Amino acid sequence: MKALQLKEFGKPTVATELIESPAPEPGPGQLLVAMEASPINPSDLLLIRGRYGHRPALPAVPGTEGVGRVVAAGHGVDPGRVGERVIVPTVAHGTWQDQLVIDDGGAIAVDPAADVLQSAMLGINPITADLLLRSFVDLSPGAWVAQTGGNSAVGRYVIALAKQAGHRTLSVVRRPEVAAELLESGADAVVVSGPDLRTQLKQVLGDERISLLLDPIAGEVVTELASWLAHGGTLVSYGGMSGTPVTVSPNDLIFRDLTVRGFWLKHWLDTTPHDAIVSAYARLAPLVADGSLRAPVAATYPLEEFQDALLHASQPGGAGKVLFTW
Ligand code: NDP
Repeated sequence: MKALQLKEFGKPTVATELIESPAPEPGPGQLLVAMEASPINPSDLLLIRGRYGHRPALPAVPGTEGVGRVVAAGHGVDPGRVGERVIVPTVAHGTWQDQLVIDDGGAIAVDPAADVLQSAMLGINPITADLLLRSFVDLSPGAWVAQTGGNSAVGRYVIALAKQAGHRTLSVVRRPEVAAELLESGADAVVVSGPDLRTQLKQVLGDERISLLLDPIAGEVVTELASWLAHGGTLVSYGGMSGTPVTVSPNDLIFRDLTVRGFWLKHWLDTTPHDAIVSAYARLAPLVADGSLRAPVAATYPLEEFQDALLHASQPGGAGKVLFTW
């Protein structure tokens, strides 16, 4: 079988190579999963570059989520699982390979009728959006949730989940052309980063203030948005796409007693009881299956075209996710 291998940390197209390896066998309590689709997320590119929160021992197979079919069950596993479509959401398995072995409990069954590409993206971003909205602040009905990276996959899931929960979203994007589709999908307000950001925020918020600010981008835009947080409001940093620091004015921190937090899904997955993880996915999976939660797809590539795929996924201003498909 084929697998993409990370041989050294560095530029994605140089640091990886396609290798042939023997098909793995499921051991006791394990399943063999034939991959069907797996996205290339920003965190995968950071991990390949050696700039993520953890570094796997090399060589390693990258890829942190995806969907596949169970093709064999090891000793002690219900043979009825063979044929199930499962997600592999444990952020540790190396999903960019034809087949992988996973513990029985780690493979979560999903609706086989659901869109396979959308299911492949269920493992990381929808649950991140859900946890960001639920874990930090008790939001009252109609509360403003503001976010940077409004057109990112996480940003789109935040918009959809906040709408369902009755919160309003104010999303900052850096390209005006994405505003219309976000508004159509349920965003309450979309503003474009730039010198007139404050004026745009004033137009949207008037005398109202933000309860929760979610940030995957960092930089000056966050400094501005933080100044619109309500007294006691919370900023959650969960990504650093711009490569710049998060800066909050001391006046905002002191006089409005702001809270600044961080969120890392890997930590949540590592520290949350298995049943709670399964039930969180069980809550979100139907929303992916019925199309309430979806992220645009820019392109799919076979594993053999990994260089084109990695290059495509690294481009700014893309039309959506790039995925490997089998
Ligand atoms: P997507 O690939 O779907 O979108 C990337 C977003 O980042 C786009 O909105 C893009 O804007 C924007 N962007 C890229 N570069 C820059 C830049 N230099 N300045 C400003 N904006 C930029 O991303 P995901 O939804 O998959 O992930 C979004 C972020 O969330 C990532 O940082 C990811 O690592 C993080 N994340 C963190 C998790 C955690 O546990 N902490 C879990 C899941 C995601 P444009 O379209 O204009 O290029």
